[in-house]
Amino acid sequence: MKKNLLGLSHEELVEFVLELGEKPFRASQLEKWIYKKLESDFSAMTDLGAGFRTALEEKAQIGNMEIVKEKSGRGGLTRKYLFSLPGGDYIESVLMRFFDPEEGDRLTLCLSTQVGCAMSCAFCASGMNGLSRNLSSAEMVEQAWHISRRLAGDERIGNIVFMGIGEPFANYNETLAACRIFQDPARFGIGARHITISTCGIVPGIKRLAGENLQVRLAVSLHTANEKLRKELMPVSRSFPLDELLEACKYYQEKTGRRITFEYILIREVNDNAADARELGRAISGMNAMVNLIPLNPVDEFAGKRSPLTRIKIFKEALDEFGVKSVIRKERGLNIDAACGQLRKTHKSPDEMGDAGTGLNEIN
Ligand code: SF4
Repeated sequence: MKKNLLGLSHEELVEFVLELGEKPFRASQLEKWIYKKLESDFSAMTDLGAGFRTALEEKAQIGNMEIVKEKSGRGGLTRKYLFSLPGGDYIESVLMRFFDPEEGDRLTLCLSTQVGCAMSCAFCASGMNGLSRNLSSAEMVEQAWHISRRLAGDERIGNIVFMGIGEPFANYNETLAACRIFQDPARFGIGARHITISTCGIVPGIKRLAGENLQVRLAVSLHTANEKLRKELMPVSRSFPLDELLEACKYYQEKTGRRITFEYILIREVNDNAADARELGRAISGMNAMVNLIPLNPVDEFAGKRSPLTRIKIFKEALDEFGVKSVIRKERGLNIDAACGQLRKTHKSPDEMGDAGTGLNEIN
């Protein structure tokens, strides 16, 4: 079987070129071709010796996934990609274009970390069929690599958000390995503050991340500060109750000093009442946090309805009274959302890819 070079660490790449009888510096040359020039054809890597190129063609490959379908959202601001994986599975990634007042146009890529998901959040289509398998760090990196090759001119992905299909902390080691590859200046060179990991509330993952030497951002999908309701909406709360989750968030802040983003999908008359906002305000007041208020992107499998903007504004005002910062995310026009659970479909064939036409919310 050929070795997939995408996703190997620098040390692993060095080891591989040594096995082929080459000098260690060849690993850096390969990295440049793979990650900077985005080349997949060894024969085009003209500064490598002919013998080395032949050996690479025989023993290695760059990537083993394929984009089988892509669709643009309204105005070309979003683009969804469907990948086929060896073994017949499919995953999605979404590229979003945002304007940052400080940094200008930025491309944000929302990545998947698993095929399906075991967390069974009530509003989430991709959790409905359970978990098929974890993605490897190589498969996470490969999503970004393929999409980078589709970009025009000198456009580059500026932000990575682990908010696609799957729970990143249920696949902790591979997700962290992918973060390190994204950060590596010889590879994607994406600064840690431009990488966000989103969890539905896996407490050990939050605590473990706090101890990593990795400055990535943390987003927590909260969706309610009411324990009873959270257990209904997010079964993860049965294993990691709300008080333990908030304690872990406080611990993370004490250790890292970093702000946490709480994602809050608003479901009409389920969790979007002013009383819900006050309960949330009491729970997180005093924390260095930002709450993303996201109208539900309805899925067929969940009866909940989207909150209207008038209710969301009242919710926000109630949060303001507790000094809790929040922002209402704007719709973007794609069949995904910003928070975990809104990309979310387990595909069995490329024909099942949803339209790129309704309801995406803006994220940073
Ligand atoms: S919302 Fe996220 S954590 Fe919950 S089931 Fe969906 S993918 Fe899994």
